[in-house]
Amino acid sequence: MPYPVNQPLIDGNELNYLKECIETGWISSEGPFVERFERDVAAYVGRAHSVAVTSGTAALHLAFDALRLPPGSEVIMPAFTIISCASALPELGLVPVFVDVDENTFNTNVELIEAAITPKTKAILVPHIYGLPVDLDPILDLARRHGLKVIEDAAEAIGQTYWGKQCGSFGDISIFSFYPNKHVTTGEGGMILADDPEIIARIRFMRNLAFDSQRRYIHAELGWNYRMTNLQAALGCAQMEKLPRNVELKRKIGAAYNNALGDVEGLRLPIAQTDFAENIYWVYAVVLEDTINADASQVMAALGKHGVGTRHFFYPLHMQPALINRYPSLATQRLPNSEKLAERGFYVPSGLGMNLNDIPEISQIIKDVIREF
Ligand SMILES: *Cc1c(COP(=O)(O)O)cnc(C)c1O
Repeated sequence: MPYPVNQPLIDGNELNYLKECIETGWISSEGPFVERFERDVAAYVGRAHSVAVTSGTAALHLAFDALRLPPGSEVIMPAFTIISCASALPELGLVPVFVDVDENTFNTNVELIEAAITPKTKAILVPHIYGLPVDLDPILDLARRHGLKVIEDAAEAIGQTYWGKQCGSFGDISIFSFYPNKHVTTGEGGMILADDPEIIARIRFMRNLAFDSQRRYIHAELGWNYRMTNLQAALGCAQMEKLPRNVELKRKIGAAYNNALGDVEGLRLPIAQTDFAENIYWVYAVVLEDTINADASQVMAALGKHGVGTRHFFYPLHMQPALINRYPSLATQRLPNSEKLAERGFYVPSGLGMNLNDIPEISQIIKDVIREF
């Protein structure tokens, strides 16, 4: 594929720091880069504490565990997000309640969440999707009024701000992912941020197999091994040094596409700006308007033939076979915007490592392909 959909950018101190790991022998989760990376991220975002883990999915698992919600508790979240948001819930005895999203921002909103609150609701999970932050203030206010915990999934939004304040600073617990398509990557990795020391203590305990602090190899509970290695953290420290540059680069990629694709009939482009944020285009996400006589799969296949890599949008969680198996009432739920986005949305090459000079050519291919439908 001449134009891959995602290409990470590894162009700073990564090799120097990795060399240091090898030369000092610190390759496991013990070693100085892990704490340094935790401190770097917490300081950047402005949080008291952070815990590095093996993935964003692991971070969400630990976050839900740390809320200590009674079995049967309902957790409201948008359907238009990655499976990681819901995958820990069955094991913890929790029930996901899916709400729809706005078809232009791809994010959920306070009205949709408020309408889903029941006496069993105990928490809200809000992911920031594809580069624009959720309008958080009204949601945080709603949560306060109803005594609900908020998990902020900022996996796609490290370096993004909401009214000038860093994403990842808003949830009772917030999480990041460092998968290679995120603005900061450690190959695989994640982080949990919180201000409450008890939550952080619980997360550190469960991240490390729930070892008894007095007598090793005794376990009163069953934890997991979600420890990040020093090698991954070394990459992360090098990547954090470039985060502001990376965010600017993302905005340049987005602006270049906005420019080149602005006049394509039938193609809805991402919103560049809201009251509270400028898009960082985690991915450059487009939606086919109803005037286009094709769905995303057909257009993506045609683009692939011309060497342009693409990805489908998320497939809504209320339609996931694995979740319908666990929560049969999902089978009849309908969330039209999430469903439509899954059918008509896709994203195009927008990784940090892409060549900006390719955007005019990629855009021309997109225009030519769209015209065929
Ligand atoms: C990438 C992502 C995750 C999962 O992170 P992994 O590190 O891949 O496990 C979770 N939530 C959102 C919104 C994501 O985009």
